[in-house]
Amino acid sequence: MNPSEQGQSRAEKDASQAEDVFAREQAALDEAAVILENENASGDELRAGLKSMRRQYERLLRLSRRLTEMSDTSHRELMEITEFKNHLMGMAAHDIRAPVGIMMGFSQILLADSEEFTEQQSVFLEKIRKQGEGVLGLLDDLLTLSQTESGSLTLDPAEFDLTELLRELIESNRIIAEKKRIVLDDRLAEYPQFYADRERLAQVFNNLIGNAVKYSPAETTARISLDPGADGEGVLVTVVDQGLGIPPDDIEKIFRPFHRTANRPTGGEKSTGLGLSIVKRIVEAHDGTIRVESEVGKGSRFTVELPIRSAP
Ligand code: ADP
Repeated sequence: MNPSEQGQSRAEKDASQAEDVFAREQAALDEAAVILENENASGDELRAGLKSMRRQYERLLRLSRRLTEMSDTSHRELMEITEFKNHLMGMAAHDIRAPVGIMMGFSQILLADSEEFTEQQSVFLEKIRKQGEGVLGLLDDLLTLSQTESGSLTLDPAEFDLTELLRELIESNRIIAEKKRIVLDDRLAEYPQFYADRERLAQVFNNLIGNAVKYSPAETTARISLDPGADGEGVLVTVVDQGLGIPPDDIEKIFRPFHRTANRPTGGEKSTGLGLSIVKRIVEAHDGTIRVESEVGKGSRFTVELPIRSAP
């Protein structure tokens, strides 16, 4: 039996036992209350009723202590299961990453000599490379998620040009956007000396810009802006699209791992439901916030607010 099954069956058994005891005590209390409420009850009957009530009260007190203990145990077991899941997820992603990386490396070496292959062989090699790239992306997401879940995500802050980072990300997403006839527009204020983890923030903004392209139809515009925060103390990065929009019921859930809405990528891109959960955790690790406003059929606006820190 795995830890999850063990935890579940014990918790279920405890809960149903507690329910039985509560039902019995409730019945006894009701009986005692009937005696006490009876205007014609004799002194002996009233004393017996009170005594019985005190007994039930003491039993309920004991039961409540036992329930507190049980809930502490369930909480501990849940923490152990979560830790086990994170460990397993991180280990699997890490161990699969190496061989997939090697396969990718070899397919790239072979592709560099592609004149030695037939056209069909080159097509197959390119397919292997592309699939490998997808698997590596997924494994990286799983690794980051397991780090954020287990609290072992470490930030490596340094000073960098935030405006330039956003320009680079917009340019790399422009290639796919142009293929889908989506315009990427930018309004970027200058922040040449931003202090944060550049690589992690690149993951955040690449995901948001990527999603704007992924979930928008042709002939639309996505706008990326960088502005000072409302109180002048932070920065605001906004990604606004004219895409599919997110149904109200899904708005709260899109930041949960593996949650996907009924929206499907408009160009057949991959979708795992992991991106935004990682985005949120990285933003929060920087003491920032992320919010989303959206209207189905009209588009979405993701706003990331980050504090300005100075290098120590
Ligand atoms: P993925 O895109 O890999 O599925 P995400 O965590 O980035 O994972 O997004 C979760 C879900 O939220 C997506 O599956 C999609 O349904 C929805 N979503 C995210 N961004 C947008 C957007 N800009 N417009 C419409 N739907 C979106």
